[in-house]
Amino acid sequence: QFPFGRRLPCDIYWHGVSFHDNNIFSGQVNKFPGMMETVRKITLSRAMRTMQDLFPLEYNFYPRSWILPEELPLFVAEVRMMKDSNPSWKPTFIVKPDGGCQGDGIYLIKDPSDIRLTGSIQSRPAVVQEYICKPLLVDKLKFDIRLYVLLKSLEPLEIYIAKDGLSRFCTEPYQEPTLKNLHQVFMHLTNYSLNIHSGNFIHSDSVNTGSKRTFSSILCRLSSRGADVKKLWSDIISLVIKTIIALTPELKVYYQSDIPAGKPGPTCFQILGFDILLMKDLKPMLLEVNANPSMRIEHEQELSPGVFENVPSPVDEKVKVAVIRDTLRLMDPQKKKRKDTHNIYYTEFEHAGDILRSLSCISGMKDKQHKHHSLKLSLKLKFYLKLGSCQRLEQAPAASEEAPDAAPSPEPALPSLCLKQVFPKYAKHFSYLRLVDRVAALFIRFLGVKGTTKLGPTGFRTFIRNCRLSNSNFSMAAVDILYIDITRRWNSMGIDHKESGMCLQAFVEAFFCLAQKKYKALPLHEQVASLIELCECRLAALHGKRLVWGCG
Ligand code: ADP
Repeated sequence: QFPFGRRLPCDIYWHGVSFHDNNIFSGQVNKFPGMMETVRKITLSRAMRTMQDLFPLEYNFYPRSWILPEELPLFVAEVRMMKDSNPSWKPTFIVKPDGGCQGDGIYLIKDPSDIRLTGSIQSRPAVVQEYICKPLLVDKLKFDIRLYVLLKSLEPLEIYIAKDGLSRFCTEPYQEPTLKNLHQVFMHLTNYSLNIHSGNFIHSDSVNTGSKRTFSSILCRLSSRGADVKKLWSDIISLVIKTIIALTPELKVYYQSDIPAGKPGPTCFQILGFDILLMKDLKPMLLEVNANPSMRIEHEQELSPGVFENVPSPVDEKVKVAVIRDTLRLMDPQKKKRKDTHNIYYTEFEHAGDILRSLSCISGMKDKQHKHHSLKLSLKLKFYLKLGSCQRLEQAPAASEEAPDAAPSPEPALPSLCLKQVFPKYAKHFSYLRLVDRVAALFIRFLGVKGTTKLGPTGFRTFIRNCRLSNSNFSMAAVDILYIDITRRWNSMGIDHKESGMCLQAFVEAFFCLAQKKYKALPLHEQVASLIELCECRLAALHGKRLVWGCG
């Protein structure tokens, strides 16, 4: 912690909330620029919609969503149409304010006309989503899963998933939504921050009972009932990879803007919290992605009215300590230099232990908790010892069953890695989905001035000209009109008014439009893939020509 400012460069920078420090020129930062913006409810819904347009079957793990207020008429029209075509369809919808968290401002409705329009929707945009009415229940209760995912690198893409997560339970037995029970948050919303206030909340020292359990305990239970847990895991892995593939184009635009290529800068990594709901048939559905998941390993306990104490939470500790520990092991800057001598190893291990202790403190600390700092430090020391440092002299190197997928060389005497590499391990199954990534690469290429995230009219014209996309049917005047129309619409609904110009999502829309025009008969993803190939080919040819001229 540097309360009075940092003086020396560090190996790892651990920011509490977001990437915000532009004075870092080396090392590794635990946040990506723009991640907070990219996973906001509206931006995530837009990114998922783009992928659903391209690959509807592959992206059917995200509930149908509409963005308010701009898509309210569309929402009303589509629901009416679906009801007309299927009169037995009795849907429920969930309205979630953009940028909200911990269940704040969320409510359920049965009909589009129930949206609360009184002022708030205009001033606070939201996402309205199909409500999943038939979730899997355990002990008659609805629950969701929080899984921790490490985005280790954006280019090349590297993703790790923690083998265990948390299951957070509702505190009222679940019933399918009716007008009578729509308002019962303890029945419908699984947020810990809400259910903790229910009289039925159970803090448990065991990982397989109570209102917060490990996900592995749920899997055990499902497996004993004969469920295909292997398939469930593979569906979850695929959900995580596909979601990150949907997010990477936007992240790359932010990245080049904050950390321009070719200039000294840090590399980034980030732990993300994925909230997933299991349907009755065990299909995982994505609820949201959290850029700043809580790493607290304690909960508050009221000793007497108004007097609170922080007590360790074994479930949080089991899951979260392993995530932070393994993240540090994977990001360890010394790893490359390590000669595997015990001396170096111990020094590093102690160093990692120190960091681990402070990190858990920072992550879990609120203002009023500062006075308990020393108590907390000793608590952390205890769990650190539990992690295995006390055994390190006696233990043989841990034989990690996951060694080939995980870190290149598992350190001796540490527990085996809980973070499992899933990308690039399974890259070949998913690379065909990375079309928007390639569109983003074209976008970034024409951004011109470093540090921007929006494309000006000249940049757009240069893109069209260099890729030779205009012709007698599509004049440069039509190009300008396309640019103005799409850019104006996106900027009128955009959250970011700081810069003028065409944002990535507007460019993607324009690109899809051009692809549809050029390759009429094909399905959308083939139209887009064909246009990308054409553009890449023509740009490569142009580049080649320039090189030859340069040589001449
Ligand atoms: P927040 O960021 O406020 O926690 P979430 O999107 O995670 O917002 O939603 C809060 C809770 O509402 C979830 O934990 C889940 O229990 C419930 N929920 C959210 N979306 C849906 C949905 N589409 N279907 C069923 N339940 C949902």
